Amino acid sequence: MITLLRPLRFIVLVFVTTGMSWAGPDAELAAERADWDEIRLLSHAKDLHDSFLTLDTHLDVPIVLRRPGFDISQEHSWVDDASQVDFPRMRKGGLDGGFFVVFVRQGPLTLERRLQAVDEGMLITRLIRETTEVHADLAGLATTPREARRLREEGKHVVFMGIENGYVIGRNVDLLEQYYDLGVRYFGLVHTRNNDLADSSTDRGGPQHYGLSDMGRAVVDECNRLGMMIDVSHASDKTVWDVLERSKAPLLASHSGSYAMYPHARNLNDPLLRQIAAGGGVVQMNFFSLYLMDTVPDAERDAEIDAWRERYATPQPLPMDVDIQRRIEINQIRGRYPSMHSDLPTAVDHIDHMVSVMGINHVGFSGDFDGGGGIADLMDVSEMMNLTIELLRRGYSDEDLEKMWGGNVMRVLAEVQEVAAEMQ
Ligand SMILES: [Zn+2]
Repeated sequence: MITLLRPLRFIVLVFVTTGMSWAGPDAELAAERADWDEIRLLSHAKDLHDSFLTLDTHLDVPIVLRRPGFDISQEHSWVDDASQVDFPRMRKGGLDGGFFVVFVRQGPLTLERRLQAVDEGMLITRLIRETTEVHADLAGLATTPREARRLREEGKHVVFMGIENGYVIGRNVDLLEQYYDLGVRYFGLVHTRNNDLADSSTDRGGPQHYGLSDMGRAVVDECNRLGMMIDVSHASDKTVWDVLERSKAPLLASHSGSYAMYPHARNLNDPLLRQIAAGGGVVQMNFFSLYLMDTVPDAERDAEIDAWRERYATPQPLPMDVDIQRRIEINQIRGRYPSMHSDLPTAVDHIDHMVSVMGINHVGFSGDFDGGGGIADLMDVSEMMNLTIELLRRGYSDEDLEKMWGGNVMRVLAEVQEVAAEMQ
């Protein structure tokens, strides 16, 4: 089986990275659609969303699920409730589902805080599972592409799980298997600061391990063995190169943009994009405003943001009710000042660039909703179709959209699981 599959995968890889499916936007299609009015564009977008699986790979909704009384089956507002994801709005935006993120903020690398992070990670994982059980009529947990497609056919939302920040395993690589058994299917090595596994792209102290640590390398091997996708978003460039060299399976960047389009440390440069594609991986374009473009200066707005920051500046984690209030207030400021946001055409410029560098088989989408994401006209999951409309205008085909809306990341998950099966 092993000898049979290896050359096959090689052929598929060559086809994918150099073959006929490179194409992205088509000028003729764009010219044809220039005559379409908004109604025709919207109706075509709706037909597409009805016809294929649509996934967002980075939904921070568990942060909101932890609020007392929050009900994901009810509709909320991003301005008044500081909530960007719920099932009714997914339905409106034509989003089948995506990866609910187990996120634990990076704290000190002490024994006590590592143990706390382990507890918190497990608690959030169980909360996501409970949510799908409580709302079993509306949604279900998926761990494979097949399960996702079955849920969709049953008319249910698809809930995958992913981890953001390797802090959640403390120094215990064996915990990865527990997460895998609970249904987690991607593992993000690092968040905004360096941890035990790897260097972050945004740690003000600079590199600590110069890429992956020994523990980080053991984690990559374990993810390969288990069939867990490795998420390199937030990792430093050197960390990503190290993972590319070490991993036997394709990589995922669950929420990242293009550095060539906007030079922010959170974005991926062209050589990295190219190498991720060459390894069969996928990069999911992130709709986090600060990483996409310089926004219009506005002194009054900035003063309000500074005052808001000051109100909540504390070295201690905020109590839940204070944190909710903090998020509501920043969203009210966001509501008052649309100039705070990057715009949708700029986000799609990033996508165009990524497709030109990587090919259509290696790009997808993620809102980073409930985790700080959102750009003008794409402020919550109910507005997802605006993205499709802009991509249709640019000349992306129906097939291109099916790949980017979920086909690509499901291919990567299947391949990662196939690599694990071969290693057994
Ligand atoms: Zn993030």
